[in-house]
Amino acid sequence: MTRIFNFSAGPSALPEAVLQQAKDELLDWRGSGMSVMEMSHRGKQFSSIAAELESDLRALMHIPENYRVLFLQGGASAQFSFIPQNILGDKTKACYVKTGAWSEKAIKDAQTYCDAVVSASSENSNFTTIPDGSNWEIDTEAAYLHYTSNETIHGVEFSATPNSKGLPLVCDMSSNILSRSIDVNEFGLIYAGSQKNMGAAGVTLVIVRDDLLGKCSKRVPPVFNYTEQVKNDSMLNTPTTYSWYLMGLVLKWVQTQGGVEAMEQRNIAKSAKLYHAIDNSTFYRNPVDLEFRSRMNVPFILANDALDKEFLTAADIAGLNELKGHRSVGGMRASIYNAMPENGVDVLISFMQEFERTH
Ligand SMILES: *Cc1c(COP(=O)(O)O)cnc(C)c1O
Repeated sequence: MTRIFNFSAGPSALPEAVLQQAKDELLDWRGSGMSVMEMSHRGKQFSSIAAELESDLRALMHIPENYRVLFLQGGASAQFSFIPQNILGDKTKACYVKTGAWSEKAIKDAQTYCDAVVSASSENSNFTTIPDGSNWEIDTEAAYLHYTSNETIHGVEFSATPNSKGLPLVCDMSSNILSRSIDVNEFGLIYAGSQKNMGAAGVTLVIVRDDLLGKCSKRVPPVFNYTEQVKNDSMLNTPTTYSWYLMGLVLKWVQTQGGVEAMEQRNIAKSAKLYHAIDNSTFYRNPVDLEFRSRMNVPFILANDALDKEFLTAADIAGLNELKGHRSVGGMRASIYNAMPENGVDVLISFMQEFERTH
């Protein structure tokens, strides 16, 4: 068996120890005589998996008592529509910060349900920076302020939690959750899909502050109504049980690595190395403002884009896969989430230097 270094933006690499454990437990989960896939979601075995999943997440993220944790379906994309419908209440306006492709999608989908006002945008920089917080036009009549903490496609990441001038802060953390410490108290709602930093595809995490519950539009299907799902421990219907289990294994792995704080230190080191290699060459380039470069997704372009194909082919042969950049940005993108070992980044840098030398 050969494992590659997988730089995919999502679904993305999982820790090898997690895959090994899933394999070991595949046919017989801890003496139950069955696979987690075969368990009733109401049974005592799966109930224990679900309870540990929530308590481990609460411990890792230091989630306060007045927040509910939901594990839903539909991906972060479904939340683009269900957030306004759940928390607008009797308000008609919400503020959004536009920093790249994902926040743009969130704005577009929200527009069906409310007046989604763009408080700030970095579009005129081609999404290579974060707009200066002191100039944001925040309407205090709005129901919330939404932003995307890491733009997976453009490789732009907020370096600190923004000031929402008293509005509940709503954040799409799909591609940097568990990669850096945050203070959950600063947020009204956090959401994230599982397939980048938390496991396999299939779980949509929503962490919501109690005071934002009870406002859901009656048109929303109950499975996407936060208040209904809180009452039912996210099991109003059958959850994606195996994805919950895999997410649980990933959280245990993060714990053994030293928690989110330790992951953050590793992510700083990994990304700094890669950016350093890019900046020290005339062959590769990253256009993002230094302060807002993503620690998770590192886009880079070759000075001569006629070499793109050859670069990708040679990288594949070297066991460095999924480096092609998003079609809207071009060039390359190395996604280096929590599960990417530092050694994977070292091997990528050596490959890039060798490719530069021979071209
Ligand atoms: C991947 C991603 C999404 C979309 O996730 P889906 O599970 O495909 O809906 C949304 N926001 C960000 C920041 C992402 O990286």
